[in-house]
Amino acid sequence: MMEEDRVVRLIQRRFAAAAPMLRLGIGDDAAVIRPRGAAELWTITTDLLIEEVDFRRAWSTPEQLGHRALAVNLSDIAAMGCRPRFYTVGLALPRDCKRGWILQFYRGMTALGRRHGAELIGGDLSRSPRGIYLSVTVLGCSVGRKLLLRSAGRPGDLLYVTGTLGQAAAGLALLERGRRRGAAARRAVEAHLRPEPRCETGLWLCRRGRASAAIDLSDGLSSDLPRLCRASGVGAEIEEAALPLFRASARWRMDPLELGLHGGDDYELLFAVPPGAAGRLERDYPADLPPVTRIGRLTARRQILLTGAATSPLEPRGYDHFAPRR
Ligand SMILES: [Mg+2]
Repeated sequence: MMEEDRVVRLIQRRFAAAAPMLRLGIGDDAAVIRPRGAAELWTITTDLLIEEVDFRRAWSTPEQLGHRALAVNLSDIAAMGCRPRFYTVGLALPRDCKRGWILQFYRGMTALGRRHGAELIGGDLSRSPRGIYLSVTVLGCSVGRKLLLRSAGRPGDLLYVTGTLGQAAAGLALLERGRRRGAAARRAVEAHLRPEPRCETGLWLCRRGRASAAIDLSDGLSSDLPRLCRASGVGAEIEEAALPLFRASARWRMDPLELGLHGGDDYELLFAVPPGAAGRLERDYPADLPPVTRIGRLTARRQILLTGAATSPLEPRGYDHFAPRR
């Protein structure tokens, strides 16, 4: 287990809340509450981005940063199968972020929000002695009372992902090397700086696709899959040959498989579908949504395996904020 997960588990064990309106507290992509008398469930999630830890200011415009800060939160709401509705923003800025910077930041953020039906409704501004600190909280709303939970996977369910794995990590590596030339490189950099949250897919999977469980890929498949498996009390087998890897990264002497398994920031959805519903999902999945690929299945044996020429355990090597210094 990653160190960050251990810390979260400790907080959960010591301080987790219980309240009549609370349906689900710490431990999924978002918390779930059902206000008294409400027809739907509300989901709440927060993400924190710190300059020099989660982003570099020199690499992105204020618009891109605003977009990304909201996108990573919308991705969590998508993973719950909910519609994002409202958000608040806490922002601590150093002196050199002036009015123009702030307006551009909110322009990027609100443009993305509006596209997905989410509105800015508040927040707080403060001064930072050094670097930008920003925290976004999103409120989402269920359609009916259905949700996608990490805990609802069952042995035998088939596993799918949206989009391409390892593309954002390739983009980050390119930014670190200071190169962005060529269409594939630009696509990878864009995937890192301006991720597109899979809101429509999450809603469709929850309402029509009969997905059982879901999680979004923020830290990498090898780190996020165990989170879904632990919550569901299952293991998984991933077929190496089935992974939708970002193969262009091989051109820049990167390993597409390594990035696809362990690279973070893709913000794709990983979801499970009962075997009896998989055929219909593959037939009915709308062609105008990001493609989905079947990559493996959940197993009763609580181990996560990568199968290919050889079979080996898949160790979590995604990004861990609390890991010992690398
Ligand atoms: Mg998440």
